[in-house]
Amino acid sequence: MKSSIGIIGGGFSGCMLAYHLLENTKDLQVVIFNKSSRIGPGLAYEPQSSTMLLNVKAGKMSAFPAIPTDFVDWLTKENIFPLNTREEITDSFVSRELYGYYLDQIWQNILQIHGARITEVINEVITISNRIDSFTIETKTKVYTVQYCVLATGNEKPRNPFLSDKAFISSQNYHQNPWAIPTEKIHDTKPILIIGTGLTMVDTIHYLREKNKNGIIYCISPHGFKILAHENSIVSYDDILEKIQLSGHLADLLAQFNSAKKEIQKRKGSLDALINFFRPITGIIWQGFTPYEKNFFLEHLRHKWGVARHRLPPISFQKINKEIQDKKLNINAGKIKEIIENESGLNVRYFDNAKNKELSLTVSCVINCTGPEGDVSKMKNGLLLNLLKKGLIESGPSNLGVQVSVNDMQIKNTHNIKKLYAIGNLLRGELWESTAVNELRSQTEKVAQEIIRTEKTKNNC
Ligand SMILES: Cc1cc2nc3c(=O)[nH]c(=O)nc-3n(C[C@H](O)[C@H](O)[C@H](O)COP(=O)(O)OP(=O)(O)OC[C@H]3O[C@@H](n4cnc5c(N)ncnc54)[C@H](O)[C@@H]3O)c2cc1C
Repeated sequence: MKSSIGIIGGGFSGCMLAYHLLENTKDLQVVIFNKSSRIGPGLAYEPQSSTMLLNVKAGKMSAFPAIPTDFVDWLTKENIFPLNTREEITDSFVSRELYGYYLDQIWQNILQIHGARITEVINEVITISNRIDSFTIETKTKVYTVQYCVLATGNEKPRNPFLSDKAFISSQNYHQNPWAIPTEKIHDTKPILIIGTGLTMVDTIHYLREKNKNGIIYCISPHGFKILAHENSIVSYDDILEKIQLSGHLADLLAQFNSAKKEIQKRKGSLDALINFFRPITGIIWQGFTPYEKNFFLEHLRHKWGVARHRLPPISFQKINKEIQDKKLNINAGKIKEIIENESGLNVRYFDNAKNKELSLTVSCVINCTGPEGDVSKMKNGLLLNLLKKGLIESGPSNLGVQVSVNDMQIKNTHNIKKLYAIGNLLRGELWESTAVNELRSQTEKVAQEIIRTEKTKNNC
């Protein structure tokens, strides 16, 4: 009998893992579990608005590591931009919705070719238990038995601000989930507060405006607005980059990063080249850090790395700057101290870094855009909490994701249970960068190869 693999999560990671497994062996059955019925797009590529853009150029968004042009090939084949040259398409920022259709089509192709070996379960997985040589995966209605299990549970809602008065959390005017904002409940002209000033903030502002929410928008985060736009650079800085020596220690790396940055800036160049140099080796560098260095990075350098790494499509950047110029958007660096609901709305007391004093404002609603929760013990995902309790997973380094052996992505656990794997966001503690398509496409291929290898070894014994 063929072994089965249970994949929990049907976003990009689950879908592409299934692809690599099914394409590369005939010996496995796949059971894929997803809370919602669309397998492929996941949270990021089933956006609230069709105008939300990818923050990476189309030319870098292929789902397949071995075919870097696949997404551009698909856009060209579908004739979605008939007036544009292939070069223009490669360089463009297309909508996340369009990327979702691309993933839909990949999934439909997988079903067409390998459908007999796939079971789609549109239901939430409540728990997983280990048996001798197998796992049982339970949904509310049925129990499935598999021999391998992969957690691909993806993005979780942001963490609520840690404030002493927590009553605001249950207010209907506080929105913890920025990816499902009930805009019909938001006042058209009254002020709004967004907590967080990253890419999700930018998406949220565009979305609110699209829905005719015309009130002033305030944003607060510890560092204020520092996001940069992608730059079009064709200049090579190889002479600067080849001088970088990776000793493995954070202080050395930082010195080298800063020195290369200075030299590139002297030539008035784009820092994209420097980021592109570090991106493919971020995981290796991160693994070499001591726990102290990891925590130091998270506390003091995470923001700087985020600014350099997470860029906006130029058009989104221009729109945000126009909002600021028109005084419709007010972005502050500071710390929220209190959110109290009263008859006039939500009263927010915060420390304003620039003014060096406490201020307050009253808004009609608060939207949390602080980014996906990374600490498994704080996630609201019942399955992960349950697995933590059972000791099948353990919190990862710096309390991010889960502990895995990075050679094969098998989860480390107190019971030493094998054939249980994790991919995607759950690997952030082990690899740091484990979010974008760029990383996930290789990760899914690697985990598939590991599982196929283990299965072959077992069959040969
Ligand atoms: C808003 C946003 C925009 C982004 N834009 C870009 C971009 O432009 N370029 C880029 O490279 N990357 C981008 N990313 C990164 C993005 O996270 C990844 O590219 C990718 O979508 C993550 O896929 P995933 O499958 O790991 O997770 P997800 O897409 O979150 O999918 C996980 C799935 O698992 C399901 N699930 C979870 N728990 C259970 C359970 N217990 N039972 C059953 N199902 C469960 C969820 O319902 C979900 O469908 C963006 C991310 C976000 C959030």
